[in-house]
Amino acid sequence: MLERRIIAVEGVVQGVGFRPFVFSLATRFDLRGFVRNDAAGVHIDVEGERAALDCFVNALTAAPPPLAAIDRVLPEAADPLLYDDFAIFASSGEQIGTASGAVAVVAPDAATCDACLSELLDPASRRHRYPFTTCTACGPRLTIACASPYDRACTTMAGFPLCAACRAEYEDPHDRRFHAESLACAACGPTLEWRAGSGPIQRGEAALDTCIAALRAGAIVALKGLGGYHLACDATNGDAVALLRARKRRPSKPFALMVRDAAAARRLCEASAAEESLLGSVARPIVLLQRRRNAAVADGVAPGMPTLGVMLPATPLHHLLIRAIEPLVMTSGNMSDEPIAFRDADAMRVLGGVADAFLLHDRVIATRCDDSVTAVNAGAPAVLRRARGHAPRPLILPVAATVPLVAVGGHLKSTFCLVRGPRAFLSQHIGDLGSAAAYQALRDGLAHYSRLFDVTPQVAVHDLHPGYASTRLAEELAVEQRIGVQHHHAHIASCLAEHRIAEPAIGVAFDGTGLGTDGAIWGGEFLYVEGASFERFGHFSYVPLPGGDAAVRHPWRTALSYLNAAFGSLDHCEDLLPFRAAPSSQVGLVKQLLAGGVASPFTSSVGRLFDGVAAIAGVRQSVEFEAQAAIELEALARGDGPAYPVEFREHGAGWVVETSPIVRGVVADVRATLGTATIAARFHATLRDVIVAGVSRVSRQTGLRRVALSGGTFQNRRLAGAAARALETAGFEVLLHRRVPCNDGGLSLGQASIATRLLAEGRGRS
Ligand code: ZN
Ligand code: ZN
Ligand code: FE
Repeated sequence: MLERRIIAVEGVVQGVGFRPFVFSLATRFDLRGFVRNDAAGVHIDVEGERAALDCFVNALTAAPPPLAAIDRVLPEAADPLLYDDFAIFASSGEQIGTASGAVAVVAPDAATCDACLSELLDPASRRHRYPFTTCTACGPRLTIACASPYDRACTTMAGFPLCAACRAEYEDPHDRRFHAESLACAACGPTLEWRAGSGPIQRGEAALDTCIAALRAGAIVALKGLGGYHLACDATNGDAVALLRARKRRPSKPFALMVRDAAAARRLCEASAAEESLLGSVARPIVLLQRRRNAAVADGVAPGMPTLGVMLPATPLHHLLIRAIEPLVMTSGNMSDEPIAFRDADAMRVLGGVADAFLLHDRVIATRCDDSVTAVNAGAPAVLRRARGHAPRPLILPVAATVPLVAVGGHLKSTFCLVRGPRAFLSQHIGDLGSAAAYQALRDGLAHYSRLFDVTPQVAVHDLHPGYASTRLAEELAVEQRIGVQHHHAHIASCLAEHRIAEPAIGVAFDGTGLGTDGAIWGGEFLYVEGASFERFGHFSYVPLPGGDAAVRHPWRTALSYLNAAFGSLDHCEDLLPFRAAPSSQVGLVKQLLAGGVASPFTSSVGRLFDGVAAIAGVRQSVEFEAQAAIELEALARGDGPAYPVEFREHGAGWVVETSPIVRGVVADVRATLGTATIAARFHATLRDVIVAGVSRVSRQTGLRRVALSGGTFQNRRLAGAAARALETAGFEVLLHRRVPCNDGGLSLGQASIATRLLAEGRGRS
């Protein structure tokens, strides 16, 4: 008997070959009807025999296309209409089918698939060496999407009408480019362009050849990629790398590398099986790998770093380049920490003084999207910078939002998070909000996502810090309500949200900086988190930060403060390196600040304790970028020396972890010339023990056995791994960040999750 089903499929199902997949299934089961994208996802209307319909519905979820991620399939019976055949219809912007409030999801960009790569390298293919080859399984998605639904007309490919050959592929249900919205060929698609100063503009293959020759000759090239511009140069050419550092005004922060394949990566770095599969994953992220001692790259690529950030080619253009010259430095096309340039005019202006030439093309980038950064941490992959290949895939929150909302994140490693119902659209990495350009990038990104996912937020959620640019944005947004969330509460909530945990948990939040509810700078916190509330059970003892931000840039200042606290004065510390390395005039000033208590906010930050210990141990007295001293201290650690004394002191309703016994232990080891490798190992062991002891204390008071570890400090793999192992040995369930950064890039998700809880608890109106 003929039956009919109207089926709504929700999730990442647009622009991933889902309709052709449905078409081939329907053909296989002899069903008639149609499929089309709608605002909720994919809408299927089919009729056939009941058994065939059941098989069809099961097959939808059994083996969907590789880039699809199905949230749910909702079939409904309907009266048969006697369709003649099965068709793919053009998209309809209107909401049809089940009005569940779901929104269609544009997929993340995906690395060139094997089939497209073979064509690219096949002289017999009509796409031989065509740098914009894509199909339904690969290519740009988010970075070309201008509006929803994901159809060619709503992408930046709209201006490239298909040639006859491409149209035939697009319309052939047996072709893997059937309804591939980004498909193109040399006859109809985007073209490469080479521009060098006032020289002649070159196009196509000539542009690529000239670019390769220039890179080989040591040039710095601004390269237009999927989500923005890279600055590229020969990574083995020390002069080119040094020139790039000088022009980019970036003395030492590591540059990422691109190599041809996993074998090439292994020649430079150690790579475990887990790390190799991360390298080759469809997001093609930068993977932080342990560098080999004699890795054949210029010293200037990552000076002093134990790791190299390595990625494999993600686009046909990168495949063609890297086959001609490798390894290449591939660093974001920006000045210092500004957002990556993605519009051609901006790139010319901003990068004109850095790059010798430009290799660009006429496919417009709709929204900027950096490379993602990942590492294997505590035995499993973790995303440290969530961008290309991951955004905008939504996370499902433990508690759905009752009204659409936006969380605007922190100040560094900025992201925002739009929430509609249970779906949290966490934006790609935007950057540090220290510049007007970054602030504008945050605003633009939010407007773009609001359009793409049709979310008009009624609530804005922000950090408690009034000076953050993100807080300013929350104040400027036309919303009905604003909610402030404490920084470390948001970190823990982010970790819990990522794991879809709604129950109470213990939180350990270790990071650099975050404003506490008492006006101090927190960052070494033991929290009890329940729903929208948290309680601070314990924290590291407060020390003043002499000069605030100046202390962050100059760890020797912080070291003086810890020494002063540990010994009661600085009179007997002048043999130590922080004194000897600092300008003597400034040492006097810092002493005055400490004595007078002016311009010296109190902090419990573990990030600052790392700075202080690194300075006392002689590792580093000043830093160029966040966590530089801590990264170096981690890299130096060898063995597993005994921990320094761990002392807890009852304090008010809670307790503090005393830093003074730790600092005195470090000083004693320095004076006994034990070496930084031992001191670094002992310090890490100490923090591990502090975590286990602190968590045990909270557990005894609350009965909880589940622990979330969050905050930027847990990017430290030695600490995260040791703490997780020790907690598990003690019988705790440990949650670490995996898909969302543990650093401030994950804050907006935590803010969003807390707000949904507040609103659900009816405490939203304050
Ligand atoms: Zn492909
Ligand atoms: Zn074509
Ligand atoms: Fe933080």
